[in-house]
Amino acid sequence: MRIKEIVATPVAFHDPPLLNATGVHEPWALRTIVEVVTDEGLTGVGETYGDRAHLDKVRAAGRELVGLDPYALHAAHARVAASVGDEVVTDQHGLTGAGSNQKTVDAVYSPFEVALLDIQGKAAGRPVADLLGGAVRSAVPYSAYLFYKWAGHPGQSDDRFGAALDPDGVVAQARLFVEEYGFTSIKLKGGVFAPEKEIEAIRALRDAFPDLPLRLDPNAAWTPETSMRVGEALAGTLEYLEDPAPGIEGMAEVAPKVPMPLATNMCVVTHEHLPPAIARGAIGVLLTDHHYWGGLVRSAHVASLCETFGIGLSMHSNSHLGVSLAAMTHLAATIGNLNHACDTHTPWQDGQDVVVPGALRFEGGAVPVPDGPGLGIEIDRDALARMHEQYQRCGLQRRDDTSYMRRFHPTFEPKKGHW
Ligand SMILES: [Mg+2]
Repeated sequence: MRIKEIVATPVAFHDPPLLNATGVHEPWALRTIVEVVTDEGLTGVGETYGDRAHLDKVRAAGRELVGLDPYALHAAHARVAASVGDEVVTDQHGLTGAGSNQKTVDAVYSPFEVALLDIQGKAAGRPVADLLGGAVRSAVPYSAYLFYKWAGHPGQSDDRFGAALDPDGVVAQARLFVEEYGFTSIKLKGGVFAPEKEIEAIRALRDAFPDLPLRLDPNAAWTPETSMRVGEALAGTLEYLEDPAPGIEGMAEVAPKVPMPLATNMCVVTHEHLPPAIARGAIGVLLTDHHYWGGLVRSAHVASLCETFGIGLSMHSNSHLGVSLAAMTHLAATIGNLNHACDTHTPWQDGQDVVVPGALRFEGGAVPVPDGPGLGIEIDRDALARMHEQYQRCGLQRRDDTSYMRRFHPTFEPKKGHW
């Protein structure tokens, strides 16, 4: 079996005005759906970022993979690395942390690897989780991923989620998500308001949901001193505090001074960050993410490293569609030391997807591992065409939360180490 053709289709879907330390989500989120077609009629699918700089690299790398055996993952990675060369793409897909050449290569490779595993699974008649050593859990728990948000995009009608700009709004959003999806843990994206306001919101969530683990992620909007103060104030309330301060250095300063573990998807995002972060005791939990850790197999290897060094594991998410949710679920199902519920933006899609409904569902806040061959999902061709048309019409080429925010608040500055 050989790779005959690769098709990368950028898509756009409606995204609510979710606030974060760098600004606010634009009305459209961008993704790319990658289909790998073989000469034996099997097709695999992967999903990745939709910004133009990344899409161009994915298309260029895809041309180099034609003719390759779909089982030759190492060879595929080497060809992608050669195609990317020594380029470094800085973050244009939103709050995934520092850029590096390895991260760029791994991010470009990831959708191909997922698609190749999908092909391998279809050829063997087995789910992708079986190719990764087999599932250790039949369903993967996800957390309710709360955001401060406006009631709607300026100039558009309010969305069904409503405003969340104070503790009452945050609790109302949590109630909606817990009711609709059954989530059993809760994360709040912070770094939007002064830390005292966000402490109040966490305390309100604690009162409303006394039994659910809580996390707060200000995306490095605080100084180390503020991070220590917030950590002390929320002692006994958070299962972990995510990226309170910038960089391995900032995190290492905070970690020994707060009572909860520090988690990251920003200061440790590629292999070169692991040795200094471990040596300095900067993190207690890693949020893995197959989209930039080089696919599912390589992410499983990173999970092993975390086990070796006593680092806990969770999973990071950007705005994504069902192909990514399926891949995340197969991976998470196979990692024994994944000891925190994974992040997902799925509720914010509000039913929009490129995947035929049915294979992916939430039960008690968890997604049962799809049991069909490969990823166990099927692309809805009409939905893919429609969302590609939306991509062409929306005019966005990259995610830019800061410029969008400045349209309404011209003096807005991103909040790195701000408070
Ligand atoms: Mg984060």
